[in-house]
Amino acid sequence: MLESSPDIWPPFETTLPSALGPPEVPALANMGLAQRRQPALLLVDDDPFMLGMQSRMLRSMGYTMIGTAESADAALALLGEGRAAVDVVICDLNMPGVDGLEFLRRLGDSDFRGSVIVLSGEGPRIIHAVQKLLAGRPLRILGALEKPAGRAVLRVMLDRWQTTIAPAPQRTLPTFTAADLQAAQQAEQWVLHYQPKVDLRTGALTGTEALLRWNHPEHGLVYPDGFIGLAEDCGAIGALTDWVLRAALAQLARWQEDGLNIHMAVNVSMENLRAPDFARKVGAMVRQRRLSPQDLTLEVTESRVMAISAAPLETLVRLRMQRFGLSIDDFGTGHSSLAQLRDVPFTELKIDRGFVHGARHNQLIRPMLEGSVGIAQRLGLQTVAEGVETEDDWTLLREIGCDIARGYFIGRPMAGDHLGAWLADWQAKQPRLIAS
Ligand code: C2E
Ligand code: CA
Ligand code: CA
Repeated sequence: MLESSPDIWPPFETTLPSALGPPEVPALANMGLAQRRQPALLLVDDDPFMLGMQSRMLRSMGYTMIGTAESADAALALLGEGRAAVDVVICDLNMPGVDGLEFLRRLGDSDFRGSVIVLSGEGPRIIHAVQKLLAGRPLRILGALEKPAGRAVLRVMLDRWQTTIAPAPQRTLPTFTAADLQAAQQAEQWVLHYQPKVDLRTGALTGTEALLRWNHPEHGLVYPDGFIGLAEDCGAIGALTDWVLRAALAQLARWQEDGLNIHMAVNVSMENLRAPDFARKVGAMVRQRRLSPQDLTLEVTESRVMAISAAPLETLVRLRMQRFGLSIDDFGTGHSSLAQLRDVPFTELKIDRGFVHGARHNQLIRPMLEGSVGIAQRLGLQTVAEGVETEDDWTLLREIGCDIARGYFIGRPMAGDHLGAWLADWQAKQPRLIAS
């Protein structure tokens, strides 16, 4: 049964909005979630001392609706009986009897639709693994923290509840067909957006990456995840990449004529690299625009798990012999591995955002980020960090000597015409960011 900590006043039953009977505060089910300011919290921990300490802390942070349970069973009984509308369950992993993992599994099977923060003294690797385990559950995981959790991190997690509670309605896209792609190709419904890349030491704009969007007459802008796989499967990717290369090079030529001395990165599929004339074709396109091969970097991601085979490797070597830049994209994810780094003459290593954003305070990914930069430096490759979303990310990358950054902190993908305005904004804040 519910154990109410004596430290918490008023006690649980009256502080949490009841889902039964007349609610003090409207119950979860009866109101627009976004209207609520205060999440109702339920702390689950077998250690009464810890329960008391964490709830006192939460109270001092201004949270008033706090309940406690000293076992998973007590918490499940409480939530299952619908006696309390809980928004966020903060639970310990290591409990006797029903442990945190089983508790969360059962919670996922119940009709609980709130959020969860996992607390554990087990260290970052366990916490990370638990986060992965929970990813497939119908629970909203706000995060996992080492115990005891400090005020600052708890605040971040609970703020996350505020921002994720009313998620933007997900557009459900139809499944496109090969015929749709063909029609799009004929009507040229493609648009490129460009995302800036800047030098971490000087702050200078070094180039942009071209990101493809499908300007669909009914569905609006469709992002690459919605159609690149299909284009690869149905043989449309060849013509599509030709279009992307032509448009990106035309834009680059315009920027260079305007005096911007920058380069362009374009994503290519493994399928493109299988075409025997790909390297020759790209060479011809660049010459036609009077650009230099050094101005173009081709980014390669292996989307399927397999070793790079002879035909794509041949194309990559040909491209490199013409002095195009070659980038291993999403480095660190399952498909872009050390074996590819060993076998392909890459000039640039792009570290996936999963190893970049938040690395400063994450003891698990930070060494991997530092290690990746170290490997690239020793191999003489340029390093590009993706997913730089905060000033913390930016500062850490400067400290560890990464070369180039890209991400929302610097600029979102934008239409080519907007680059000038973005640059003016960026240059205004640049001095502060490269001050130390
Ligand atoms: P990518 O090359 O890793 O591109 C980065 C993706 O992350 C882009 O999404 C970009 O909008 C997004 N992004 C950029 N900065 C941040 C950040 O700070 N935080 C977060 N959370 N996200 C960020 P997008 O445009 O949807 O592209 C997804 C993927 O589609 C690309 O991943 C690339 O692999 C592929 N793609 C894009 N354009 C093309 C193309 O022309 N041809 C091919 N074959 N693939 C493309
Ligand atoms: Ca890319
Ligand atoms: Ca990437």
